[in-house]
Amino acid sequence: MKISPNRLDRVFMAHSAEYEAAAIRVLRSGWYVLGNEVSSFEEEFAQYTGASYCVGLANGLDAIKIAFSILGIGEGDEVIVQSNAYIACVMGITMNGATPVFVEPNQYYNLDITKIESAITPKTKAILPVHLYGQASDMEGIMTIAKKYNLYVVEDCAQSHGAKQNGKMTGTFGEVGCFSFYPSKNLGAFGDAGAVTVNSAKLDEDFRVYRNYGSEKRYYNRIVGTNSRLDEMQAALLRVRLNHLDELTNERIKLCSNYLEKIENSCIELPQVQRSCETVWHQFVIRVNNRDAFIDYLSGKGIGSIIHYPIPPHLSEAYGYLGYTKGAFPIAEKYADTVLSLPLYNGMTQEEQDYVIEIINKYEV
Ligand SMILES: *Cc1c(COP(=O)(O)O)cnc(C)c1O
Repeated sequence: MKISPNRLDRVFMAHSAEYEAAAIRVLRSGWYVLGNEVSSFEEEFAQYTGASYCVGLANGLDAIKIAFSILGIGEGDEVIVQSNAYIACVMGITMNGATPVFVEPNQYYNLDITKIESAITPKTKAILPVHLYGQASDMEGIMTIAKKYNLYVVEDCAQSHGAKQNGKMTGTFGEVGCFSFYPSKNLGAFGDAGAVTVNSAKLDEDFRVYRNYGSEKRYYNRIVGTNSRLDEMQAALLRVRLNHLDELTNERIKLCSNYLEKIENSCIELPQVQRSCETVWHQFVIRVNNRDAFIDYLSGKGIGSIIHYPIPPHLSEAYGYLGYTKGAFPIAEKYADTVLSLPLYNGMTQEEQDYVIEIINKYEV
């Protein structure tokens, strides 16, 4: 049997008639950028998350980058981010000229709140928690620290659509929730797309102006903004997927509880879920020593897997200028050396998953 790490065609096939109808509706409408589909999606997604407002943008990186820009964070400022973050989180900070200050993750792969305070300096302006692999960070703890030190909180929700802590959704705790709708995300579009959620009318307005060349009124430009608009086609397709998001999430939860229950191999360390924090299982990430051998074994049996992520940002070539060397963040480095995402996708059949589990349980070092 051949099993890919992801199958985006399956999520389309599950509701293909609805996606096709939405696409044709847009094609025939004669209006393709920033129209009714975008404003309807913004309303529906704000309602889904419980945020007051949502602003559609071109992608998830823009959401982070524009958030810091609007909050006035740049040259000379520091932003706290976890050391095992995705590279886009860090680029969203540095593209504004600000400096990332890395804090190690906990056993749930999210920001370890016991290590935040010692990283705060007079230059610290914000915390960027990344709800990695679909699990909400300890946002209550993070918000307490942010209030104490008067810091902004920008949440990276690119992997956490619908994830909650104590019933409150990610993207509604901090000043800004940044979402990506890249096709492989839990709420994926069929191309690039992103959004922010905010609770302040002022920020809502700021993002709307910024994404469209800094103009409220066409050709009257108030500030130097950018072009980061969500298009009608992606918005219409996202509305279809959002309608089914809870059922798609439940399917992922079921698949992952199967993995948790049935994988039995002392070589494999299974993911843990923090008591107060729900996960929407963007990825099912295990840890294994001698990972290359395990990947080869799986691939010999036709099973694909992906490493999220093999190089922590502080050791990536792009951030050589920050001057970190190996050993600077040992937990993130250990994770980078041992994590592996198992095949997980909506539409994964029981037969496919049983095969993956059987092969994993037979693995011996
Ligand atoms: C995907 C992702 C992003 C970037 O989103 P794009 O839409 O690809 O720009 C940012 N942060 C995290 C954690 C992501 O997974």
